[in-house]
Amino acid sequence: MEFCPKCDSLLHITKDKKSGKPLLKCPDCEYVESNEKVAESYIISDEISHTEKDIIEMIEVREEDHVLSSDIREELTEQFRESIESFEF
Ligand SMILES: [Zn+2]
Repeated sequence: MEFCPKCDSLLHITKDKKSGKPLLKCPDCEYVESNEKVAESYIISDEISHTEKDIIEMIEVREEDHVLSSDIREELTEQFRESIESFEF
């Protein structure tokens, strides 16, 4: 986490349009920092969040792919209802 020395806002990672190098930019003022080491750490954490998103999407896709028969679906729905009822009482 890097903060703007001018206004203390959290710096956002961005890329220099010309060089493609990572930059830290303040969203509130025009302060820009080209600290590559810090920017790299930002990119790494960004990649991790992308990976988590990919995993979630993968699970969602798998659930869609996983063909449940209508009987099993009804059974699961019934179990779900029962678990809610037992939770309430
Ligand atoms: Zn600032």
